[in-house]
Amino acid sequence: MSSILIQGGTIIDPSQKLQRRADLFIRDGKIASISAPSAGSGSARADKVIDATNRFVTPGLIDIHVHLREPGDEEEETIASGSAAAVAGGFTTVCCMPNTKPALDNEGMIEFVLREAERVGLCNVFPIGAITKGREGKELAEIGSMKARGAIAFSDDGVGVADASVMRKALQYAQMFDAVLMQHCEEPALAGGSMHAGLVATTLGLSGIPAEAEQLMISRDLLLNRTIGCRYHVQHISTAWSVELVRRAKRDGQRVTAEVTPHHLLLTDESCRSYDTNFKMNPPLRTSADLQACIEGIKDGTIDCLATDHAPHLAEEKELEFPQAPFGINPIECALPLYVKALVEAEHIDWMKLIDLMSTQPARIVSLPRGTLKEGSIADVTIIDPNATWTIDPEQFKSKSRNCPFANWKVKGRPTHTFVSGELKWSIAD
Ligand SMILES: [Zn+2]
Ligand SMILES: [Zn+2]
Repeated sequence: MSSILIQGGTIIDPSQKLQRRADLFIRDGKIASISAPSAGSGSARADKVIDATNRFVTPGLIDIHVHLREPGDEEEETIASGSAAAVAGGFTTVCCMPNTKPALDNEGMIEFVLREAERVGLCNVFPIGAITKGREGKELAEIGSMKARGAIAFSDDGVGVADASVMRKALQYAQMFDAVLMQHCEEPALAGGSMHAGLVATTLGLSGIPAEAEQLMISRDLLLNRTIGCRYHVQHISTAWSVELVRRAKRDGQRVTAEVTPHHLLLTDESCRSYDTNFKMNPPLRTSADLQACIEGIKDGTIDCLATDHAPHLAEEKELEFPQAPFGINPIECALPLYVKALVEAEHIDWMKLIDLMSTQPARIVSLPRGTLKEGSIADVTIIDPNATWTIDPEQFKSKSRNCPFANWKVKGRPTHTFVSGELKWSIAD
């Protein structure tokens, strides 16, 4: 193994409440030390020196909600292409959802993802196992054995677990194994629309998914979990009342966490007026009041972390009419500056809080010993140029898909280097 000196940058490490100019020394894949800027003298002891002047040096970014599409839809994304996209977005770790074909609902499938990610060798990929067999919502999957094999959490993402008795059993079972249950909160009886149910949907003549579809399932799950106390995580929270439900549950001491996507912090259902299917996602883009509530939820700690819900789709699918096109967008390679725009440039939070939401908190939610630059920890590190201005161009994405509603947006802030276990996996020059 080799040694790397990242020199002259500003270290931002929320796990130590640390923000100051310093050198970061990596040896044998671990953080060896953080020391006063050496102005060149430290270079003698490192095999490689990286100048980080005017850059931020942060714990590697972690995205606990991505779709890598393998196996089954390799033309949209693979573990290899998704990993390349992740490191280009500054992410050192991703957690991938089990709605592949077949679903990640047994040990063999968990093993397959881990082995393929290791063969690719770019970022850490931790698979999320299905809660129910085939994600059909009927029979519990082998949560215990999948966890033992390396499943980091459990979800039927794409759909919520509709049956209350199945969900109750899942919470009880997951609690026994101290597993994290992540829910795509959507009551199926209220689902089936193609955008947020509201004035815009009515005007456009499109069928809607009401906010209550999400709120109903969160309410039910919080009620079921009140006496069980499982680690319960709300995926892609999107409505004002959902945020309030989580806020109240936290106040009551319930074990609940929540994530929000970049699109729910930047876009509203007004965007659907273009009939551009890159604005079609699930949960749908909501109203500006919902968007503001999500921002408030971040500021007061109700929402614990940021996650992209990276969902690549083929161009020919997204070219279908709005009602027929699939849900989902491809934001992982531009997520960092999108969060910067929504939260830091708008002066809702500072960089320390942003890195907390993108690294330290997601690591905590799924119990990963990452999201920190403490001495001796795994050297997953991202270097960020906070002043780089650039234009998002999906044609440049490493991802196999291009379905990104942020094309041509001018943004500020960009990862420049991504290190995983002390190895440089991507840099802006690549
Ligand atoms: Zn989902
Ligand atoms: Zn998803």
